[in-house]
Amino acid sequence: MNQRDCIFCGISQGEITSNKIFEDDQAFAILDISPKAPEHVLVIPHIHVGDLINASLPEFQAARHCFEIAPQIAKSRGLGLSGYRLVTNQGADSGQEVPHFHLHILGGRKLQGMG
Ligand code: 5GP
Ligand code: ZN
Repeated sequence: MNQRDCIFCGISQGEITSNKIFEDDQAFAILDISPKAPEHVLVIPHIHVGDLINASLPEFQAARHCFEIAPQIAKSRGLGLSGYRLVTNQGADSGQEVPHFHLHILGGRKLQGMG
């Protein structure tokens, strides 16, 4: 299920060190190494989900789980009342760097509008 040379698979397996702030059997959350907001968390499925365009049912379920746990992770970072933005990049035009599905939780300040 996991892919060689994938950074997020490596973090999932513990082969690459990270600052995990949450983990369960399906997904984990880490602090982004290059934060774009005061709070910038990545929510990542353990299995390698390359994209949601050609995803299998287990891959969709893993992605769905990320959406389900994101609110409690945001709340644990103090973003419950102030709000936050959930972002997922897809493909070259989005600027996606890591081709393993993930959600960005961004918050901790007033964010600019979507450009
Ligand atoms: P993408 O552009 O694929 O949507 O987002 C990938 C994110 O992963 C970027 O915001 C980048 O800063 C972050 N990132 C890349 N490599 C690492 C890493 O090794 N550790 C952590 N914590 N974040 C990473
Ligand atoms: Zn992967």
